Amino acid sequence: MRNVVLLTVSAFFWSAAGTSFAAEALAEIQVARHGSDPGFKFEKVPAPAIDDAASKAVFKLLDGQQDGNSGSLDVLHDGRVPGNADDPASNFFLKPGPDGGRLWVDLGSVIGIKQIATYSWHAGSRAPQVYRIYGADGKAPSFKPSPGKGEDPLACGWVSVATVDTRQESGVPGGQHGVTVSAGRAPLLGSWRYLIFDLQSTDPKERFAQTFFSELDVIDANAPAPNRIERIVKTFKSADGKFTYEIDANIAPDLMAWSEMELLPAIREWYPKIAALLPSEHYQPPAVVHFQFKDDMKGVPAYAAGDRISLNAPWFRQNLKGEAKGCVVHEMTHVVQNYWLADRVREAKRAPGWVTEGIPDYVRWFLYEPQSRGAEITARNVAQAKYNDSYRISANFLDWVLRTKDKDLIKKLNAAAREGRYLESDWKNWTGSTLEELGAAWKKANEERLEKH
Ligand SMILES: [Zn+2]
Repeated sequence: MRNVVLLTVSAFFWSAAGTSFAAEALAEIQVARHGSDPGFKFEKVPAPAIDDAASKAVFKLLDGQQDGNSGSLDVLHDGRVPGNADDPASNFFLKPGPDGGRLWVDLGSVIGIKQIATYSWHAGSRAPQVYRIYGADGKAPSFKPSPGKGEDPLACGWVSVATVDTRQESGVPGGQHGVTVSAGRAPLLGSWRYLIFDLQSTDPKERFAQTFFSELDVIDANAPAPNRIERIVKTFKSADGKFTYEIDANIAPDLMAWSEMELLPAIREWYPKIAALLPSEHYQPPAVVHFQFKDDMKGVPAYAAGDRISLNAPWFRQNLKGEAKGCVVHEMTHVVQNYWLADRVREAKRAPGWVTEGIPDYVRWFLYEPQSRGAEITARNVAQAKYNDSYRISANFLDWVLRTKDKDLIKKLNAAAREGRYLESDWKNWTGSTLEELGAAWKKANEERLEKH
């Protein structure tokens, strides 16, 4: 939210046609940079509008090519913003390369435009916006509705509205960028039906410098003020002030009440507990943990990456009374584990997947909800069970080792995994038996237990 700059575009250019630049002379451009608020809140630039004139407009790409990972043009006027700085599918952007592209918007009829706004979000060179806007009412005799590459819009019935460039001479380009183009104190920027956004690469020397455009708004001077995005995000501090939990239910407002009443107490109790269970030297678990409901996760109920936990909203709605909270406990364990740190270790000895997943399921099934007996070895699965089967079976194995050998072993195992120095031979040092021997003993103990019944 820093760096709000007011630029006034002067009538720097002069056109032989006389009127071509009249709009550009009027345009007053506000730029906000480096935002990171989930709702794109800036000081001088309003949050993106939901039901503005662009929401029902037709969008088309006249020139240039959409990137394969880009969202469709719809994301530009769906009244929704990306969830983070690297959310390609929620943005529209062009293919890598020095060429720009031409985005064309048909508002359906000539409207008095009060303001045009664009929003983008990326951590690097895809954050700034560099483009020129043209407008047309479609009434000029020379009017060409869709001038393509190499065709000068000014020569076929269009006027130049504004030239926008949010780059800075120095400093980090990233974060959210928000731009408004309006006529300052004048009521109207212009009356147009068609708009062209002539998009440029933000850095011709850099291949990946196509702006991640998140939203494009056109504000009709004669319509009621539009509704604007308001993220349903709540933050909660732990009682000791050490941890902050952020719950983003923007796409699932119906889940906020459950999150506050049911999930939050579990988070407050268990995040610090898991942190205490899995310490290592000089390690602090993330102080801020983000929980975000999403609706594009297909069959995955939840996943963790760094300090962010993504929650599959449709899945949660169906499992509120069942697996929902335990699933979050599992993901919080991943946040505390932070085994991504091992990526920074040169020639890291990485823990195998069954350790990475076995620990969260151990925390969940044996500490958080032992009463649900969700990770039992039974007559049905004992024959197939192997200590490294991952998830519940591995959790059961870990529980057995901790109960019968050394309850602090989980701390040693976790520290080795986090620090990128996991060696299978450590099991022998820790317990006096090799991992294979432990696996066999655990299995035998279960078989004997089951035979007795
Ligand atoms: Zn997991």
